[in-house]
Amino acid sequence: MNIIFHIDVNNAFLSWTAVSMLKEGYKEDIRNIPSVIAGDEAKRHGIVLAKSEVAKKYGIKTAETLHSARLKCKKLEVFPPRFSYYKEISDKLYKYYLTYTPDVERFSIDECFLDLSNTSFLYDDILELAYKIKNEIKEKFGFTVNIGIGNNKLCAKMAGDFSKPDKVHTLFQNEIKTKLWPLPIEDLLFIGKSSSKELRKLNIKTIGDLANYDEVLLRKYFKNRSTFMIEYARGIDDSKVISKSGKNKSISLSETLEFDTNDREILEKKLMIMCEKIGVSLRREKLYAKTIAITVKTNYFKDYSHQKKLLNETNNTMELYKNVLDIYDITIGNNLIRNIGVRVSDLTKYRNNQISLFEEEHHESDDKIQSILDDINVKYNDLKIMPAIFYSKKNKDKE
Ligand SMILES: [Mg+2]
Repeated sequence: MNIIFHIDVNNAFLSWTAVSMLKEGYKEDIRNIPSVIAGDEAKRHGIVLAKSEVAKKYGIKTAETLHSARLKCKKLEVFPPRFSYYKEISDKLYKYYLTYTPDVERFSIDECFLDLSNTSFLYDDILELAYKIKNEIKEKFGFTVNIGIGNNKLCAKMAGDFSKPDKVHTLFQNEIKTKLWPLPIEDLLFIGKSSSKELRKLNIKTIGDLANYDEVLLRKYFKNRSTFMIEYARGIDDSKVISKSGKNKSISLSETLEFDTNDREILEKKLMIMCEKIGVSLRREKLYAKTIAITVKTNYFKDYSHQKKLLNETNNTMELYKNVLDIYDITIGNNLIRNIGVRVSDLTKYRNNQISLFEEEHHESDDKIQSILDDINVKYNDLKIMPAIFYSKKNKDKE
C-alpha cells in the first residue's frame, strides 16, 4: 500500500510575508490582524491572493477584489506579494522534505506531495511522523502547514483540506465512505463550479452520491469526463509522485496570456502550438517523452499542473496534443488562466511500442510529413506551416 503525504502551507503568501517582515524587525505579526496580500490595484492584480485568519472572519475570500474586501473590513491592512522571497522559502521547504524521502513532487509553490511508500518502514508510526514534520516546520521556519495522508495523491490532497490550519488528517482507502462521501460535491478535487451545478441538477449532492451514480447515465451528461469524475469520487487515483531527479529531464514551455481567460478555443490553440514546439525540439534531439503535463497559473497566481503517463513514448506532435487534450478538463476546470504551459518528462532515446486496443495505430506517414515540416519551420524559424498537419489529420479522420 502506498503512503502519500500532501503538505500544504496555511495561508502561504500571508504567512511567508509575516515571517519575512518579522525578520526585518517589523513589530506586528500580520497574521494576528485583519490583513491580506494583494496585487497592484492600478494594474489588473487588485485581488486578494491570501488572507489572515482574522480577515477570514470578516468574510474576506481569496480571489475577491480589494475593493470588495475593504468594504467588508474598514481596518483591513494590505501588503504587496514578495514573490522572490516566496520562491526562496519554497525551495528551502522542498530541500527539507528531501531529507525524509527522495520522492517529492512540487504541486504548487506551497504544496508538495511526498511518497513515503519506500521509506515508511523507517518510521514506526506514520501519523507520528506527520506530526513531527508539521511541528518541525513550525519551529524551523515559523509558519504552519496542513498534512494530508492517503494511499494516493488524490486522497492525500483531499485529506489536507479537511480542516485548517496546523492539522494532520488521514484519508485511507478504508475511510473513504465515512470521511469523503458525506462531503458536498463542490469539495471534490477538480470538479469546477459549473460541473457541480450540473451534478446537483442530477440530484448528486455529495461525493458519495457521485461515487454511487450510474456510470452509463453520467456518461450521457459528461462524456469522457465522467470516468475520472466517478473514479475521483471513489478515491481512485493511480498517478505517481514524480520527483525531479537528474535522470528525469524535462522540456517545458509556458506563456503568459494577454488577458486572463477560460476560453477553450484560445487555450487549446496555445497548447497546440506548444506541443508542436516541444515536438520539434524532441525530434531534433531524437528523444521521446513518456509523460506529458499541462501547467497553469490562475488569475490569482496559483500554480497547478496535471500530468499523464503515455502508453508509448512519443515525439509526434499529434500524439502529444491528443494526450494534452485528455488532461485539459482536469487541469483547467473553470479557472481563469493567466499562464499556460506544456511540460514533457521521462525522456528516452528509444521508442517502445506497446500494442494497445485503445490507442489509434501510429501513422508512419505522419512522422515523415512532420520531419519535412520541421525542416521548413527551422529554415524560416517560424511555425507558420505547423497547423497544416492538424487540419490534414482532422480531415483524414472525417473521411
Ligand atoms: Mg496553501
